[in-house]
Amino acid sequence: MSEPLLRVSGLKKHFPVLGGLLSRQVGTVYAVDGVSFSVNRGETLGLVGESGCGKSTTGRCVLRLIEPTDGEVSFDGQDVRKLGGDYLRAMRRNMQLVFQDPFASLNPRMTVGAILGEALVIHKLGSSAKERDERVASLLVKVGLKAEHMRRYPHEFSGGQRQRIVIARALAVEPKLIVCDEPVSALDVSIQAQVINLLEDLQAELNLTYLFVAHDLSVVEHISDRVAVMYLGRIVELAKASDLYRNPQHPYTRALLSAVPVPDPKLKRERIRLKGDVPSPMKPPSGCHFHTRCPIAQPRCAESAPALKEGANGHLVACHLA
Ligand code: SF4
Repeated sequence: MSEPLLRVSGLKKHFPVLGGLLSRQVGTVYAVDGVSFSVNRGETLGLVGESGCGKSTTGRCVLRLIEPTDGEVSFDGQDVRKLGGDYLRAMRRNMQLVFQDPFASLNPRMTVGAILGEALVIHKLGSSAKERDERVASLLVKVGLKAEHMRRYPHEFSGGQRQRIVIARALAVEPKLIVCDEPVSALDVSIQAQVINLLEDLQAELNLTYLFVAHDLSVVEHISDRVAVMYLGRIVELAKASDLYRNPQHPYTRALLSAVPVPDPKLKRERIRLKGDVPSPMKPPSGCHFHTRCPIAQPRCAESAPALKEGANGHLVACHLA
């Protein structure tokens, strides 16, 4: 198999918490705390966990929209953390982000044509205004909109259509990787499937690679080749999607999966209700971070953190009892 397009190793992002009159550091948020994974070319890796588990921060560190505290990010063989200037700009063209809230990420005062055209101008794609207009028209058609939509403003579209515009803007610069950060969670359930189908079709047509961040395992089930589950800044399970949904090994993954509705009542899982909320990433529990909520925790779970161990089919799980 060829070298993965994206390789993340030991990634950490710790945010200082400032307080008091002198704004001294009074604590640290351990948002991402030693995360490693890779994404192959043309693959979709789903990154799942409750809010505050560090999945969006991981996505932003990969794109270097925020600087990691430690660890390595290699994209297409290049060390992303060492790039600067023109090299960083060129890399950013290859790695795009689709946000959760399409309305917030589109300038309401610009037409759709100007929004997409701006991306082309920034990256020097299209030698004339006419050529750029033609590219914008074809991008809009590619995402299921019409060429004449380029003259309209974002508020004239529905939420699902606006997310299509955001996807078209990401595609405008012909990226290799798209980080999809909760791209459908602000949309009605009926529209979510349409946008996910569109992303799948575009992936097949353009050989795109996705890092797909979501808080809900049901959203990533169909689009992901592999799924990584995060809890309090760490990956607790990573496996082929079919293995993870059929045979979840980590108690946290089992709890998340038990909340996913299934169409066939015979396949219904018993609901596992976790105690309490996710602890603060400022004070993650000792040992296995999940021990304060785990239904099968043992005394040793509070003492030592389980390593991410590999089982059959490359199924990785971090649990003393797995
Ligand atoms: Fe639960 Fe212990 Fe496994 Fe953590 S290591 S998931 S606390 S059993």
